[in-house]
Amino acid sequence: MMTLEHERPIVNLEDDTAVAAGAVFPVIPGNGGHPLDEAPLPYWLDRPCPPWCLISTPHEDREACEDRLHQSASREISLTVQPPAVFEVNGRVIATSQARVVVGMWQHVKDRDPHITLIVNDTTETSFTLAEAAALARLLTAAPSGEYATITLTLEDPETALAPKPWPAAGPPRPFSRPAVYAVLRDYTSRTVLFCHGQFVTLTDGEAKELAAALLELLAAAR
Ligand SMILES: [Zn+2]
Repeated sequence: MMTLEHERPIVNLEDDTAVAAGAVFPVIPGNGGHPLDEAPLPYWLDRPCPPWCLISTPHEDREACEDRLHQSASREISLTVQPPAVFEVNGRVIATSQARVVVGMWQHVKDRDPHITLIVNDTTETSFTLAEAAALARLLTAAPSGEYATITLTLEDPETALAPKPWPAAGPPRPFSRPAVYAVLRDYTSRTVLFCHGQFVTLTDGEAKELAAALLELLAAAR
């Protein structure tokens, strides 16, 4: 029997064609010109891949439902003022590497619109609708100084928090849930601080602009 692993689509982001063309997020008008435009379609697709889908082998009938995804190229931004990423096994540090964020775009065949993901150090992933990603791009270049601006994340699970004080006299404070938010701050050193899922990420001015540009490029490709 085939395992799920065998049914995953093969996605090669180092695809020679795309790299040779210098393409990061190639925008091809309509579907014409997509490298897989002529490929036979699996029964679950009624049209060729969107222009931004960089999957390098054609989608196939046998792909499991959860794997029926269009995927863009990704863009990586190194974070020079963020502590290095640390990888541990059983409490032992086995590797460290330069901190980074990676952004990319995805769309399941049943999704109405694509969504954009931002992954910090290959571990913490946050999903944004296109409108939320556009709001983040704006805040990255014009965050208010000294206070957090927030974006409500509708694709993320709600977060659990403690009710603000005063707590009821009887019993322990009760946790409650609230929508997840992405918070952006410009600090007194003109660095941009992102906060989400309990994690702070600090970017230089240049890195914040680079991330904003990567988001805008994806948003343009999605149109
Ligand atoms: Zn595709």
